Amino acid sequence: MTMLAPCTCLITGGAGFIGSHLAERLLADGHRVLVMDDLSTGRLENIAAFSDHPRFRFVRGSVEEPGALDSLASESRVIFHLAAAAGVKLVMEKPLHTLRTNIRGTERVLEAAMRHRCRVVVTSSSEVYGKGVRTPFGEEDDVLLGPTSKRRWAFAASKMVDEFMTLACVAEQGAALVCARLFNTVGPRQSGDYGMVIPRLVRQALRAEPITVYGDGRQTRCFCDVRDALEALIGLAASDQASGQVFNVGSCEEVAILDLARRIQTLTGSRSGIRHIPYAEAYGPGFEDMQRRVPDLARIEKLLGWKPTRRLDEILGAVIEHERRSLARPADAALPEASCP
Ligand code: UDP
Repeated sequence: MTMLAPCTCLITGGAGFIGSHLAERLLADGHRVLVMDDLSTGRLENIAAFSDHPRFRFVRGSVEEPGALDSLASESRVIFHLAAAAGVKLVMEKPLHTLRTNIRGTERVLEAAMRHRCRVVVTSSSEVYGKGVRTPFGEEDDVLLGPTSKRRWAFAASKMVDEFMTLACVAEQGAALVCARLFNTVGPRQSGDYGMVIPRLVRQALRAEPITVYGDGRQTRCFCDVRDALEALIGLAASDQASGQVFNVGSCEEVAILDLARRIQTLTGSRSGIRHIPYAEAYGPGFEDMQRRVPDLARIEKLLGWKPTRRLDEILGAVIEHERRSLARPADAALPEASCP
């Protein structure tokens, strides 16, 4: 895989789960790292371990405000655009915020990138495949979204607009931009507050609370370790051929959510029972879930030779260890905000 030559990288949403892992990894690789995050869902404790690194800078701000973004882009060679409103719970509760953040935010990032000739990796989502049933999902497949009255699909639609804008900038302006469709990325520091199933279920198991399985639990997902996903994002940033294309980034190890809950029960040694909750109770009436979601990884494998390397049990082990440690930590142990200018 091509290496990314040492440079300044801007990570929007860099205090979030994936962004903070990426920041750590880029610092270790010798890059200068700028993080912009409005801390709406990102957390300072995610970047606390490296916030005083000499090659690191944190700026609190939103990508929707062009001023600070433009100045950071002017210093950067590569932008990893991760700032987004993500998580099923968040889009169900705040659809307008989701649409605005994802569409306006990406537009601003692309404008800044084109002014300063930055390369950009725009992170999209496997949600864009919607409720299609023919798996695995290939990047050129048709997509099937539900109606606009079902607000879950607002997130998918916003990410599709992001992809269209990105590809249009490449076609019309010759910019070097690429989209990564992330499939259920997981690992330590992911918050369960916005719906993500693994941190939620692990916390429930560790607290001896009922483990909540929505619907019958036969729906499946493929979970990709965040460290594997980072390799793909960095590889895409480094590749000249990736520009103007969309790439699936995920794992093909498929698991039913009920089996996932049982594995978490076993691996944590929890006394928790499993509680099935109807979708309508979890997310409101008329909620639509997708039954299966498996990526076709041929395109990224062909370009970068990239494949995920970590199995689900290893990923679960890392999340369980992280959640055990954070449950044992006093609630006020987070970094004080003032120490990050
Ligand atoms: N899910 C669940 N219990 C929870 C949270 C989620 O059974 O407490 C289910 C959810 O309905 C979905 C799967 O787990 O079928 C993955 O959900 P997540 O929100 O993590 O991701 P996405 O739906 O975007 O794949």
